[in-house]
Amino acid sequence: MSWRSIVRGAGRVFALIGLLEFLSAQVRCPTTKEFSHIGMDRAFPSARFIPDTLWVPVVFHLIAQDSGGWLEERRIAAQVRALNRDFAAAGIQFYLPRYGPQGQPTCGVTRHLSPLAVHDWTFQEDTLKSLVCWPPDSFLNIWVVDEMVLSTIGYARVLGDSEGTPGVVLIKSVVGDKVGVQPPFDWGRTAVHEIGHVFSLYHPFEGGCVGMNAQTCAIEGDEICDTPPQSQPHYGCPPLTTNTCHEAPPDLFDPVDNFMGYVDDECMTRFTSLQIQRMREFLFQVGAVLISEENQQARGRNEPFLSGCAAVASLSYSLPSFHIRQAGHSIFMEAEESISLILLDAMGRMILKKEGNQFFLSNLPVGLYIAVVEVRGKPLFFRFFVI
Ligand SMILES: [Zn+2]
Repeated sequence: MSWRSIVRGAGRVFALIGLLEFLSAQVRCPTTKEFSHIGMDRAFPSARFIPDTLWVPVVFHLIAQDSGGWLEERRIAAQVRALNRDFAAAGIQFYLPRYGPQGQPTCGVTRHLSPLAVHDWTFQEDTLKSLVCWPPDSFLNIWVVDEMVLSTIGYARVLGDSEGTPGVVLIKSVVGDKVGVQPPFDWGRTAVHEIGHVFSLYHPFEGGCVGMNAQTCAIEGDEICDTPPQSQPHYGCPPLTTNTCHEAPPDLFDPVDNFMGYVDDECMTRFTSLQIQRMREFLFQVGAVLISEENQQARGRNEPFLSGCAAVASLSYSLPSFHIRQAGHSIFMEAEESISLILLDAMGRMILKKEGNQFFLSNLPVGLYIAVVEVRGKPLFFRFFVI
């Protein structure tokens, strides 16, 4: 079993273990027993018009040295919005839960004063996570510390890992979205990158120039065939024509704009289609409880925010009704209020952008489509096939 670095920033740190091990994983933080009946074998849905969004409750555990050092809640709200912006194309969305592990009211934020706020991950990971941890089968835990050793800005442990507690550790200076956050890691994308690891992704430079042809790209390196291998991490904002590995033709440029690289936040912009597919399949299997309807109900996803959570209340919304029908090569969509629609093809290319109440799309070529419907500034996703 190979051990893989999953740290962004300086150094290589924690292990991301192979997928087979996830299935028998134990966690050190107690699991939520009432959901243990939910199986791991739910099929990856491919039916038409299934609302595609996978909802993940995320809790922020703020660890500070003194009570004057708490991260502001508006930056947590901004971070969640940044996650939802960047995971939009993946059909994965995050929310702060209204109810904690015992059903207690929460804003999705906990606070703990501890010297562990200056965090040496080389030996303190378990100690930090034992300070506070919500069942990682039901919540995505993000611990936020003041500082980390060795210039590390974040690290992650994959969901289902048997070697430790899954989740993300970040330094507080990278949490948020531009306002109050220091460039160049100021778009909330350290969290995006680390959550990519939690959902089973590796770096595109994993293993260097390996997986160089169609026979090996799915089993070597990052095991993703639409992220061409790159020999090493890139930093800053490298040109999109950077090419460090020369694959079997076509020899493609390095994926320097990928969320799973080390470039500056403003220069990482996407997950690829196959990264998205891998994360979603992983969530349907290893994260089945996390994304389940039962978990959403228990966490109060659709309930109004509690009083005292004003800073995060902007994340609360309800959606107007929306209908989508297909007849042959035509699609009809109707909403009870004006919405914006973006239609993407299977490669993620935008082929249509419109606003209005009704949309009629005819003569669509055969293929897979993703409709991103933005309602009151919030995206919804629908996948459909024209056959
Ligand atoms: Zn990483």
